[in-house]
Amino acid sequence: MAIPILMYHQIAQPGPRGTPLRGLTVSPRMFAQHMQMLRLLGYRGLSMGALDPYLNGERSGRVVGITFDDGYLNNLQNALPILQRQGFSSTCYVVSGEVGGTNRWDAELGIAQVPLMDHSALQAWIEGGQEVGSHTRSHANLTQVDPQQLEAEICGSRQELESLLTQEGGVQHFCYPYGSLDDAAVEMVARAGYRTATTTARGRVDPGRQPNPLALPRVRVNRTTTVLHLALKCLTNYEDRSAA
Ligand SMILES: [Zn+2]
Repeated sequence: MAIPILMYHQIAQPGPRGTPLRGLTVSPRMFAQHMQMLRLLGYRGLSMGALDPYLNGERSGRVVGITFDDGYLNNLQNALPILQRQGFSSTCYVVSGEVGGTNRWDAELGIAQVPLMDHSALQAWIEGGQEVGSHTRSHANLTQVDPQQLEAEICGSRQELESLLTQEGGVQHFCYPYGSLDDAAVEMVARAGYRTATTTARGRVDPGRQPNPLALPRVRVNRTTTVLHLALKCLTNYEDRSAA
C-alpha cells in the first residue's frame, strides 16, 4: 500500500489576501478536519521514526506520515492538541541555528517573520508524543554550499539538536530545505547517520519499489487543500500521477 507523507508548514490563521506564501499556512480548523478525516478513513498518523518500519516494508498497515517544516511555534500551540486528540504522532523539522528565532531565511522575500519553537517549546513538543528532526542549521540551499558548510548544515545540525534536546534515539530524520538536494547532499545525510530524509518531490512512497529512504517524496498540504482533496491525495494515485 502506497504511503503518503504529508508536508505541512504553519498551522495558524492565514494572513490577509496577498500575503506572500500565505498558501503554506493551514488554519487550525482545517487541520483538525484533515486529521479527523484520516482517522475516519482508518489511517494512523505517524512520525517519521514510527513510520520507518512501514517505509522499509518490515510492517504494513494503513499509515500516513505527518511532517511539519521549519519548526513554527504555532505547530506546538495549534497542531499538537489536534494530533493528541486523534492519537497521532508527527515529525517537526527544526532549523538548529534558529531555535527560538524566526524564519529569518524568508525575510528578504518579504515573508512575515513568525516565531519558531525555542528550547522549552521543542521539549514540550517531544513530551507531547511528537518528534524533532533536522532541517539543517541555517535553512541553506544544500546545492549551493561548499563541502565544509554542507557538513555543518547536515552533521552539525544533528549534533546541535541532540545536545539541546532529550529525545529517545536522538535526531534520526532530516528534511532538505527548499526540497533542494544533489548527490553530495544525499551522501552527507547518509554519513551523518540519518535514517530518513524527505524532499518536496510530489508523490506517495511505495514500499514495494524499494524507495531511497534518504530522498522520500511527500504530499503537499496547503491552505486550499480541502478534506476531499486530501483524501484523494492519500487514497488514490492522484499525487503520484501529478508527479510527472
Ligand atoms: Zn523549510
